[in-house]
Amino acid sequence: MKIIVLGCGGSAGVPMIGGKDGCGEWGACDPLEKRNIRSRSSILFQMNNGLSVLIDTTPDLRQQFLTNGITRCDAVIYTHAHADHIGGVDDLRAINRLTQKPIRVYGTETVLKELQQRFGYVFKAWMSFNLPCDLPRASLEAVPVSMGSITFIEGIPFTLFEQNHGSIFSTGIRCGVFAYSTDVVDLSDKSLALLQGVHVWMVDCFQREAHTTHAWLERVLEWRQIIRPHRMILTHMGVDMDWCWLQNNLPQGVEAAYDGMMFDVADPI
Ligand SMILES: [Zn+2]
Ligand SMILES: [Zn+2]
Repeated sequence: MKIIVLGCGGSAGVPMIGGKDGCGEWGACDPLEKRNIRSRSSILFQMNNGLSVLIDTTPDLRQQFLTNGITRCDAVIYTHAHADHIGGVDDLRAINRLTQKPIRVYGTETVLKELQQRFGYVFKAWMSFNLPCDLPRASLEAVPVSMGSITFIEGIPFTLFEQNHGSIFSTGIRCGVFAYSTDVVDLSDKSLALLQGVHVWMVDCFQREAHTTHAWLERVLEWRQIIRPHRMILTHMGVDMDWCWLQNNLPQGVEAAYDGMMFDVADPI
């Protein structure tokens, strides 16, 4: 399967709104380095059988799909209900129009309840329209998931696990030898056990210094000693994380993601 990194930025993106000239606050990031331009964090699984599973719907979803030529999304897995991970849900309407069917969205009871409260209209029953372009809103079907056991999503086995994200829990996602851990500050022994044997691990690394709700560089490198993935890819990075600095300073086997990055991993058995 192929993983497409649609976005790898923190909740405010890089650059953040602001800056001396009002054209962006870049922090430690070099504005001339294109790989420092980060939209909000999301990835897409493209399976070898053609299925596409999206992780989160960021406020940047429309541009992320256009930039990467994506016109197919068979299911969405939500990691949690923070605004930078759900804010683009309305733009799934474009996929509904193309496929003429609702999209199944998977999440914990807590996440689905939050989505229901904020975007209740997208869960109304599917209506057929004479003209495809008449579809007035996104149309989704909520499917609750539980942690720890294998969950088949569109026939693909995923293992979902709990992650501590400060005041809430987020959902980590494992599919075969690949795992995605965005928005996480701590992992229980149980979740670390579920990550054993992962070859490629994408992990939240918001900044270099310690943080209360997101993992930081030192913590990520500690986790690496426990799980020992072949490849570790940092995501959900803020303005502290200059791409070139990271390339020059990270140990071998650890790298910073960038928007549009793609890589292959073995399909789950
Ligand atoms: Zn986030
Ligand atoms: Zn979050």
